[in-house]
Amino acid sequence: MSERFNNVVIGGGSAGLISAYISAAVKAKVALIEKHKMGGDCLNFGCVPSKALIRTARFVHDIRRHQELGVKSASCEVDLGQVMDRVHDKIKHIEPHDSIERYTSLGVECVTGQAEIFDPHTVKVNDRILKTNNIILAMGASPAVPPIKGLDQVVYRTSENLWDMRVLPKRFVVLGGGPIGCEMAQAFARLGSKVTQVEMGRRILEREDEDVASFVINRFREEGIQLLTQAKATEIRIEGPEKEKVLLCETPQGEIKVPFDEILIAVGRRANTKGFDWEKLGIELNPNGTIKVDEYLRTAQKNIYGCGDLIGPYQFTHTASHQAWFCAVNSLFSPLKKFKVDYRVIPWCTFTDPEIAQVGLNETMAKKAGIAYEVTSFDMSDLDRAITESENYGILKVLTKPGTDQIIGATIVSHLAGELIGEFVQAMKNRIGLNSILGTIHAYPTFIEANKGVAGVWKKAHAPQWALRMLEKFHRARR
Ligand SMILES: Cc1cc2nc3c(=O)[nH]c(=O)nc-3n(C[C@H](O)[C@H](O)[C@H](O)COP(=O)(O)OP(=O)(O)OC[C@H]3O[C@@H](n4cnc5c(N)ncnc54)[C@H](O)[C@@H]3O)c2cc1C
Repeated sequence: MSERFNNVVIGGGSAGLISAYISAAVKAKVALIEKHKMGGDCLNFGCVPSKALIRTARFVHDIRRHQELGVKSASCEVDLGQVMDRVHDKIKHIEPHDSIERYTSLGVECVTGQAEIFDPHTVKVNDRILKTNNIILAMGASPAVPPIKGLDQVVYRTSENLWDMRVLPKRFVVLGGGPIGCEMAQAFARLGSKVTQVEMGRRILEREDEDVASFVINRFREEGIQLLTQAKATEIRIEGPEKEKVLLCETPQGEIKVPFDEILIAVGRRANTKGFDWEKLGIELNPNGTIKVDEYLRTAQKNIYGCGDLIGPYQFTHTASHQAWFCAVNSLFSPLKKFKVDYRVIPWCTFTDPEIAQVGLNETMAKKAGIAYEVTSFDMSDLDRAITESENYGILKVLTKPGTDQIIGATIVSHLAGELIGEFVQAMKNRIGLNSILGTIHAYPTFIEANKGVAGVWKKAHAPQWALRMLEKFHRARR
């Protein structure tokens, strides 16, 4: 028996859920197929568990800082099993938002099973054949695992099984210096592991401006995280009568051995494209393995669309949902109406302490793209609320179009940077400049006052000198 749908969505993560929801909201008949867990990576293995773990790690860290916070004595004991119970509780708490029950009530037909695409209008799941006008691909990505000799001899961790750990490793190796590696390296170090972070590049957080990354790098060093950069992991060996696990790394100084109890692989994520005959479907892949789409998020097969980690170029929950809107609307209303995906204002945040949040361009990106800019900075150590919180550490940088107050990017490295960036996202989206942020009342004392602070620095640097000279004369004459 075959049934006819307007849209069949494959994958029940952030991208799939939103495209199914929007399709149902405009009264289309839509099926959502998920083979594993509704909510995908974000809920089950990504954003939610990682942020829950980071919360506990911050609490433990604050206890260690008790004297700085004016408390004579404080201590705590970490049981990773209990910490992970809390992490799973948080997943359970949020689970109903992404559940089959909720999506069914929203008008989506949810199907559990592995989807196969027979042809551009036919999807098979379990024993069902679904005929459809369009297919939306939202199968996400999975942790990339590099071919390290001997890796198969150990139980290694990725974001998929990290949350099953019950015992805090004494020595924890984190492979990879990107956002996920950094967030987890700091969290485990704060919980009490001796962490070594191994990165092939010149430094961790390579996509960030050097001065921005240095705030996190210095904090990592203070917190005892060993950073091994320009180090290529080549082999894992089990050594000696104690059967000690050792990671071998090639470095410019020669081979380095890093003994460990647990290892986390966080070297990137690859699109989930296995199990489909893309060539037969006439769909192309990009060199990095993602599905190739055009500016309407259509694949080369014009009724098949793609969104989320499966297509990139970003790998965030909010970009997955942003793309999902374009997939749902373009698939259902094209050729009557179709919209080009808009990547003009994309924010993101790395939840280390301090956090790094960005929207638009940073200096590195502007230089690479040959875009002229002026940069204005505000030192977070000057901010009253940051001082009272003992969190006066970091910097806020805004890039503007030369000679104007038009914002082309903002980067904040600070406590709560992920919250502060919101005002710049809003400003960029609505083409509001620094003059307007300066003229907006911000409650005192708050962290968000830093945004007004940086606008003030910009204004001072751009005050018309001739007008100030005239004013000086005017006031002198009136004295
Ligand atoms: C540790 C970690 C921390 C992160 N933190 C953040 C963060 O703080 N902020 C942020 O914005 N992003 C974060 N991310 C990234 C975020 O989780 C992803 O960008 C987001 O989940 C992508 O959503 P998606 O729908 O594209 O893919 P996914 O969430 O991976 O969903 C794809 C779904 O498709 C299903 N599927 C695959 N193949 C089939 C098939 N053939 N049939 C049926 N179903 C199929 C899968 O089971 C999966 O459920 C983090 C990721 C990780 C790993």
